[in-house]
Amino acid sequence: MSRINGFLGRRNLIKLMGIAGVSAVATTACNQAKQTSTTQAPASPAAQPVANATDKTKEPYVRPFSDDMTPEQALQLLVDGNKRFTDQKLAHPRQDFARLTETGADQFPFAAFLSCADSRVPVEVVFDQGIGDCFVVRMAGNVATPEGIGSLEFGTAVLGSKVLVVLGHEGCGAVNAVLRQQKLPAESKIGTLVPYIEPGVDKAKNKSGNDLMNSVKATTLVQVETLKRSPILAGLIKENKLKIVGAY
Ligand SMILES: [Zn+2]
Repeated sequence: MSRINGFLGRRNLIKLMGIAGVSAVATTACNQAKQTSTTQAPASPAAQPVANATDKTKEPYVRPFSDDMTPEQALQLLVDGNKRFTDQKLAHPRQDFARLTETGADQFPFAAFLSCADSRVPVEVVFDQGIGDCFVVRMAGNVATPEGIGSLEFGTAVLGSKVLVVLGHEGCGAVNAVLRQQKLPAESKIGTLVPYIEPGVDKAKNKSGNDLMNSVKATTLVQVETLKRSPILAGLIKENKLKIVGAY
């Protein structure tokens, strides 16, 4: 539990959070990812054109990564992309108009996200990924609502994303509002988010350190556990076709 205070700030690499239990595994996972980056090549970039027999006006879809990519390799691609972002050495992969044309034929995103709607955390930018790479569900507080879970089941079971990242972030207004018990407009639907955030805020109570950061991380891990209770997602994990991780 103590390592929750060891997470890095916004100018540093996004840190993965524990798959089982609060961040105890997270540092390990991240370290492993870093270690493998020097010895293990990313997933095969072998192009796999997907012919579109019915529409000759569209370019064939060229899969940038092999379908045999493992969840660990998919996660590594994100870690590498985030490092490029924090090092300010962006590659801007697959972001040109040609890619847009290609993805008109089909999509095979290798990563799925449940991210906050916050305008300061644009997923493809901070992970330096391109068009067609990431299947992103964004919800204030990165909460796993039934609609969000359904979307992510589609992104993984149907579209084949290999890794699902629940992405919390520094200074989250949604979590802060619940933490500070801010008054919400009675006529609004904002309050519908609260039940998804409260359990994490409760879990983080009495922890040392920054209460908002602790609450965001705890809330993020609560959503990870919620997602793992989806029979669809749990089945993919069991088959080693998917990994769900929390990150901050
Ligand atoms: Zn937020």
